[in-house]
Amino acid sequence: MGKILYFDISAVLISSVFLTTTIIRSGFKGTKRNFLISWIEVVVLVASIGDLGAAITEQYLLFSPYSWMMSYCFNFIYFLAHNLLLPLYVLYIYSTTGIWHIFKKYNYLVYAWILLTGLDVFLLFANIFVPLIYTLDQNGVYARGPFHLLFYVIAGIFGIWGIITILKHRRLINHDKMLVLLMIYPVTVTTIVIQYFYPDTLCEMFGISICMVLFIIVVQHKEVSVDPLVGAKRHSSGIESLTNIIETGKPATIIFVKIANNGNILMYLGQDIYYQFLHLLSQNFTKFAEEEEFPGELYYLEYGLFGFLAEEDSLTTAYRTAERIKKFLHSQIHIDNFDITLDGRICIVECPDDFNDFQSLFSFATSFHNTIPVSKNIILYSDFKGQQEFQIRDDLERILRDAIREQRFEMYYQPIFSAVKNRFVCAEALIRLHDEKYGDIPPSLFIPFAENNGMIHAIGDFVLRDVLKFISSTDIKRLGLEYIEINLSAAQCIESDLIEKVTQLLEDYHVDPENISFELTETAADMDPAIVDNHVKRLSSLGIRFALDDYGTGYSNIKRVTSLPINQVKLDQSFVKEIDNPQMWIVIQDTITMLKEMDKEVLIEGVENELLARRFIDLNADLLQGCEYMQGFYFCRPVPKDQFIAFMEEHVNKQIVIN
Ligand code: C2E
Ligand code: CA
Ligand code: CA
Repeated sequence: MGKILYFDISAVLISSVFLTTTIIRSGFKGTKRNFLISWIEVVVLVASIGDLGAAITEQYLLFSPYSWMMSYCFNFIYFLAHNLLLPLYVLYIYSTTGIWHIFKKYNYLVYAWILLTGLDVFLLFANIFVPLIYTLDQNGVYARGPFHLLFYVIAGIFGIWGIITILKHRRLINHDKMLVLLMIYPVTVTTIVIQYFYPDTLCEMFGISICMVLFIIVVQHKEVSVDPLVGAKRHSSGIESLTNIIETGKPATIIFVKIANNGNILMYLGQDIYYQFLHLLSQNFTKFAEEEEFPGELYYLEYGLFGFLAEEDSLTTAYRTAERIKKFLHSQIHIDNFDITLDGRICIVECPDDFNDFQSLFSFATSFHNTIPVSKNIILYSDFKGQQEFQIRDDLERILRDAIREQRFEMYYQPIFSAVKNRFVCAEALIRLHDEKYGDIPPSLFIPFAENNGMIHAIGDFVLRDVLKFISSTDIKRLGLEYIEINLSAAQCIESDLIEKVTQLLEDYHVDPENISFELTETAADMDPAIVDNHVKRLSSLGIRFALDDYGTGYSNIKRVTSLPINQVKLDQSFVKEIDNPQMWIVIQDTITMLKEMDKEVLIEGVENELLARRFIDLNADLLQGCEYMQGFYFCRPVPKDQFIAFMEEHVNKQIVIN
C-alpha cells in the first residue's frame, strides 16, 4: 500500500492559508507573540511540505540520483522545521502568557533552550556527513540512524517544558486559552503513535495544523482586538494586559494619555468625526512610538483615555514618545474642517515600582487628570509619589474602611438657583470626608476608588440615610426648597435591593418622594440597560425626580437620555469653562435648544462668577426657559448643613440681583 498523502496535502493547504492571512494582517511585525506565531506557521508549513515532498518522491519518482537527492533534501527540511516547532512553541507560551521576562530572567532557561535547539540542529547538519539520524540507501529507502531516538528525547523535554509552563502559570490565562495551548501535546502524541503503527498514514502534520487553526481562532483572534474605529486595542484587552502586568510583577512602562476635554470634543465634532479624531490620535501616537523605538502597544481604555503599554523597562523611550505626544496634543489639530484645541495630560507609570495592585493602578489611570494639576508637562508617577495626594491614594482603602465603620462622612449642600423664579429652589448634597492624618479628602479622589472596589455601596447608604434625615428634620418648604439632589453612583443603580431600600428609608424618615432627586451619570445609563431602566422607572413612578449629571463628559448618548424618565440634564462645568470659544458657545446653545425640545430641564454647572451667570441670563427668554437652573461658586459653595440652612433662611424671600 502506498502512503496516504491527503493528510499532508491538507496540512500544506491549511498552513499556507493561515500563513498568508497572518502576513497580510500583520506581517512579521508587531508583538513578540505575533512574531512567534508567524514563525510557527512558517515552520508548520515547511515541515508539511518536507513530509509531503519526501512521500511523493519516494512513491512516484523513478529512482535516480536526482530523486535520491530530492528525497534526502525533503527529509532534511522536514526534520529541521519539525524540530524547531516545539522550541518555538515554548517561547510562544512564555510570550502569550505574559511571562517573557521570567524566561529572560533565568539564564539557565535560556541556555537550556539554546543548547537543546542547537543540539537538534547540529545533529541534523552532522547527518549530512555521518548518518546519525537517518539515511537513504542506494534505492532511496529511508532508514533510521543510531541517534534518531535523541530527537524524540529532545522533543519530549520541550513538550514537558511547555506543559509545565502552561500549568504553572494557568492563573494568568483564561480557561479556553489554556486548553487550546495544551491541546497540541495530546494531538502530537496521538498522531505520532498512529504513524508509528501505520507508517503510511502521514497524519502528524495534519494534526498540528488543525491545532494551529484552533489556536488562531481562540488565542490569536482575541489578541487581535484592535477597535477599527479607534485604531487602538479595546478596553477589555487593556484590562487583561494591565492585570497581567500586576499579577506577574514583570517590569512594564505605561504612558497614560488623557484627553481631559474629551466630552466637549465629542459634542463639538459629533460621533462620526469624533471617531476619525480618535483614529488620528492613535495613528500619531503609534507613529511616535515606532520612531522613538518605544516597544509599547496602544489601548483605548476609557472615554478619552489611552494607555501605551510596554512589557519591559523602557523609561527613556517612553519619555521621548511622551514628549512627541505632548507636542502633538498641544498643536492645533485640524480634522474635517474643525480646528480643535486639546487638553491632554500625560503620565508615565513604571511597574512594579509604582503600583503592585490592579485596583490602585486602574483607579489612578482613570482619575489622574483630576488630581494632577493642569500642566503642560509630562508627569512621572515616581516624581509625585512622595506628595500627600499619592500617600492618600496608597492609604485610601484603610481610610475609607475606617470612615465607613465610624460613619465619619459629612454631607454638604450647595444651593441651586432658578433664573426663571429668581431664587434658590433646590440643592445638591455633596459628600465630604475629613481624615485626622490627611485633612480633607476630596470626593473626586475617593468616590472613583470606592466605585472600583465596591465600598461605594456602604458610602451610598450613608448618603441616602443622612440626606433623608436632614430633609425629615428640616422644614425645607419654609426654606423655599422643592427637593434635594442626591448623587447615585452607577454601581448603586444596579443594586438588587435599591427600590426596597429607598422605599423603606423614605417611609422610616417620613419623606415625600417628590422631595428628592437622584443624579445619575452616563456611566450609570450605560450599565445593564434592563436593570437600570427598570430601577429608574420604578423609582420615578414613586414620584422621585431624576437628573443626568456631568452631561458632555461621557459619550453623551442622547438616545439613552430620551429612553429614561429624566427630568433634568446637568451640563458639565467643562462646557462653561470654554464659553469664550465662539464655536463652543454655539454648541452650548444648540444643546440647550435640543434638550428643551425634548422637554428636559437644563442646569448649568460650575457658574463661578457673575460674568458667566450673566451670559446665561442674557440668553433670549426662550433659551433661558431652557436653561433655567444654575449652580456654582458664584451663588454659593457647598456648605455644611447648618450653614446651608442659614444661607437659605437669609435668601428665601430675597430677590437675587445679578448685575
Ligand atoms: P458632581 O456631582 O459633578 O458635583 C459637582 C462638583 O462641582 C462638586 O465637587 C462641587 O463642589 C463642584 N462645584 C460646584 N460649583 C462649582 C464651581 O462653580 N466651580 C467649580 N470648579 N466647581 C464647582 P465635589 O463636591 O468635590 O464633588 C466631586 C464629585 O464627587 C461630584 O461631582 C460627584 O461625582 C462625586 N460626589 C460628591 N458627593 C457624592 C455623593 O454623595 N455620592 C456620590 N456617588 N458621588 C459624590
Ligand atoms: Ca452631581
Ligand atoms: Ca456634575
